Amino acid sequence: MSSDLSALLYLAASVCFIMALRGLSHPTTSRQGNIFGMVGMALAIGTTLAAPGIVSFGTILLGLLIGGAIGTVIALRIQMTALPQLVAAFHSLVGLAAVCVALATFYKPEAYGIGIVGDIQVSSLIELAIGTAVGAITFTGSVVAFAKLQGLVSGRPLVFKFQHTLNAALGASVVVLLVLLCTTQDPIYLWVLVAVTLLLGFLLILPIGGADMPVVVSMLNSYSGWAACGIGFTLQNNLLIITGALVGSSGAILSYIMCKAMNRSFISVILGGFGAEGEAGPAGADGDDDRMVKSGSGDDAAFLMKNAGSVVIVPGYGMAVAQAQHTLREMVDLLKADGVKVRYAIHPVAGRMPGHMNVLLAEASVPYDEVFEMDEINRDFKSTDVVFVIGANDITNPAAKTDPKSPIYGMPILEVDGAQTVLFLKRGMSAGYAGVQNELFFRDNTMMLFGDAKQMCEKIVKALEHL
Ligand code: NDP
Repeated sequence: MSSDLSALLYLAASVCFIMALRGLSHPTTSRQGNIFGMVGMALAIGTTLAAPGIVSFGTILLGLLIGGAIGTVIALRIQMTALPQLVAAFHSLVGLAAVCVALATFYKPEAYGIGIVGDIQVSSLIELAIGTAVGAITFTGSVVAFAKLQGLVSGRPLVFKFQHTLNAALGASVVVLLVLLCTTQDPIYLWVLVAVTLLLGFLLILPIGGADMPVVVSMLNSYSGWAACGIGFTLQNNLLIITGALVGSSGAILSYIMCKAMNRSFISVILGGFGAEGEAGPAGADGDDDRMVKSGSGDDAAFLMKNAGSVVIVPGYGMAVAQAQHTLREMVDLLKADGVKVRYAIHPVAGRMPGHMNVLLAEASVPYDEVFEMDEINRDFKSTDVVFVIGANDITNPAAKTDPKSPIYGMPILEVDGAQTVLFLKRGMSAGYAGVQNELFFRDNTMMLFGDAKQMCEKIVKALEHL
């Protein structure tokens, strides 16, 4: 294939990727976005395989078969609730790939037409060194994020003295190593750079508390994009440069939006320091609080909601775990048939990944015009009769506004306590993801509904049918 034709096809693929991102920005156009993404990827892979530089198809085919088989099995078996850690694991592979490509290029530069061992073009060496550094940080950072999200290590911020000083020193040494590598081309500096940046990735993510992980995941998404962009420069592949930059910048924009939603500083996320100022949750965080709460049954909940003028549903992680969205929709249909005004309120970090609740509600065919973002609905809680919180906790916790020591302090919440009655559907008194007890459980206008989200919704549906 001529280089002009392949450049044209790469351009077409890039346009498809941009259209994919545009489509994915809204639930109604997301399927279309996915189709654009698939077409773009098919074009990209096809054009790359048709390039004259390909020496043997055997190894590529083997890689495609092994990777494709693993990817298919994972896609078929993965639970929606485990997607964030899967994404983190995938990011780590992108980072590792960037490091491997950089090392291969350093030891065999003639294969990439960038010079010979010991005499690599300086511009290529700079690209290669930056790609290595970003890739290594992405790799260990994503491994730590995976371990935290999977519950393999504590989700609480792990802080120690002089953490920021150490990070700053490591950051400065990265710059020194880059200069030394580019001026001497001594492999030892490349290996030390790999070691230092691997350590830096680890140290940047370790202090970040569980509740702040959504921002970390999207930040690592951005890092992995820049790492891919670095590989693109090393391999002199324009498409990889463009797609890497698209992933890098869209991840950074998403992180910025999420930082704003959680009232966090974007700069401190990049520097890996935020979430650290919080301390362990107050007593009772693990459900050992012995204060009395008011609890009710499915019948009570059905009665309260059927007699309400307006109900707002607040879904959270527990709804995803129980896969209660379909039964919830049945419950809402019955309420609407009785003339109750029902709306859904979505917090930007509800669940365990951006857009988690929107996806589940769309899966249950909830109309988009009944679903409201936090900013759109927060002022309406005061005039709401009943709020039905299903498997959500942190996103309603007033400690985010009142307790400066809380790890979620500063995060805007859904202000459900303003409603006349708040129903909390969860299995017990456990804390949410951030490990902080929720004072709302003990309020006079709260009624706890203890049970699995799906089973309790089924009970409420039955009760509504007989009321
Ligand atoms: P939380 O994790 O705060 O609370 C979920 C609640 O659901 C728990 O308290 C649990 O209580 C309950 N629950 C679990 N399983 C069930 C079940 N089967 N039936 C009924 N209830 C159940 O979730 P939120 O959605 O309120 O908040 C999200 C949290 O996750 C935030 O802290 C956010 O920062 C963090 N996060 C968000 C990400 C994102 O991108 N959205 C990514 C990573 C983290 P019990 O055990 O008593 O039932």
